[in-house]
Amino acid sequence: MLRIANFIGGQHVPPLAGQYLPNIEPATGQVHAELPDSDGRDVEAAVQAALAAFTPWSRTPAAERSRLLLDIAARIEANLDRLAHAEAVDAGKPLRLARTVDIPRAASNFRFFATAIVHCHSEAYRTDQLALNYTLRQPRGVAGLISPWNLPLYLFTWKVAPALATGNTVVAKPSELTPLTAHLLTELCQEAGLPPGVFNVVHGLGSKAGAAIVAHPRVPTISFTGGTVTGAEIARTAGPLFKKVALELGGKNPNIIFADADLDAVLPTSIRSAFENQGEICLCGSRIFVEASIYPSFVERFVAAAAKLNVGDPLTPGTDQGALISAKHRDKVLSYIQLAKEEGGRILCGGGPPANVGERCQAGYFVQPTVIVDLPVDCRVNREEIFGPVVTITPFQDDAEVVRYANATPYGLSASLWTRDLNRAHQLAEKIDAGTVWVNCWLLRDLRVPFGGMKQSGVGREGGEEALRFFTEPKTVCIRLTGDM
Ligand code: NDP
Repeated sequence: MLRIANFIGGQHVPPLAGQYLPNIEPATGQVHAELPDSDGRDVEAAVQAALAAFTPWSRTPAAERSRLLLDIAARIEANLDRLAHAEAVDAGKPLRLARTVDIPRAASNFRFFATAIVHCHSEAYRTDQLALNYTLRQPRGVAGLISPWNLPLYLFTWKVAPALATGNTVVAKPSELTPLTAHLLTELCQEAGLPPGVFNVVHGLGSKAGAAIVAHPRVPTISFTGGTVTGAEIARTAGPLFKKVALELGGKNPNIIFADADLDAVLPTSIRSAFENQGEICLCGSRIFVEASIYPSFVERFVAAAAKLNVGDPLTPGTDQGALISAKHRDKVLSYIQLAKEEGGRILCGGGPPANVGERCQAGYFVQPTVIVDLPVDCRVNREEIFGPVVTITPFQDDAEVVRYANATPYGLSASLWTRDLNRAHQLAEKIDAGTVWVNCWLLRDLRVPFGGMKQSGVGREGGEEALRFFTEPKTVCIRLTGDM
């Protein structure tokens, strides 16, 4: 069985305490690898390696850092099949999705920041005839990066690439549930010749290895993607230590459909935004609001399409929806379906595990695409993040009502609006609490735009210029001009 190692100072090393955790394949419920159960001592070793590598790496010319990151991007692409297979096994997601979305995006993350760093500019201001001010943007030191299990390599590299590109060194912890592709990435970085200590990976539990990274006094920058409760705990630790923190947290996103929308475009995209990656995407549109005049026909067509989705072995071509990440998470999702019934909801399709997912996957953690109607907008199922293949559909009368509905959760990550009336789209986009509003689309990403959430969906933004700024410290240099200018 594969035994994953930590990656510290350019070497694959066992955890100092010699303890390992089982790594379970969600589609089968079987252990398929072991990963280090690292503790504070492993984190200490990784931080020391990252500190030792910081000065030379931060002084490495941007063009050379860029060359190395482009090389890593190329190696990710060359290993597409191997990485996609590992991701599908580790996360339970369809192999097709890992091949077409997760792994290509990981390569794009490296390529994007590798090229961004050679086009950086900073501000300069002339103060009348008196002075010249300019801003230096310097790397901050060791960055602590913590990522979740739903888009493992995609979100991991979304942090690693800008941190390294800007000259920081890294101590990163992938989710304990999906360590495999981060481990494979360390091999690719080694092959690419990334200097030892620049990129370190410590595997293990969030409460142990993750917490040790957040609390470490020599790690001044923390970028975290994960649940809102964990985000609050990280903020509590990092606040008094005056760390720079970015928190990308949960979502409960509205998908708003007006009667004038092009329903042939709305339907397939709404099915994707509800159920892609088993509904385990922070951006999923899990609350669908439909203008009352088309509500009955939309519900009928949506349910028919949801019921046709193929749930089963992630490794089989043609599978639309794989397994949920763990037995615990499957039980959480099922408990929300039960709660929906108690809150007065009507289940129109799904509602439990599928009848047959084939021999290999009998013990896997599957839940059918589930559609629920007749729930009040302010009930728990409509306010709390479920993070599974479960959507609610609710009718609305007018713009003011749907804005009220859309904003009726503690979250504010993203929203979709479907209408041919662009005037209405502009007006609603301003009023909806969300870091991103998509009009007539979903998950159409441009890596240059700010990405992040409002309210309990997070603090700070990633992407493009925002990430370059996050991972650097601005320093103003003011030079007094003398003589006759
Ligand atoms: P968690 O918050 O449970 O975990 C995220 C990461 O943090 C994991 O690596 C975890 O390790 C680690 N961790 C847990 N506790 C601590 C701690 N005390 N200190 C430091 N690190 C810790 O989230 P999930 O992995 O369950 O991911 C799902 C969540 O992520 C959802 O809420 C989803 O909405 C959100 N998310 C947000 C995105 C965004 O961009 N806004 C994108 C994708 C997901 P371990 O696995 O060992 O617990």
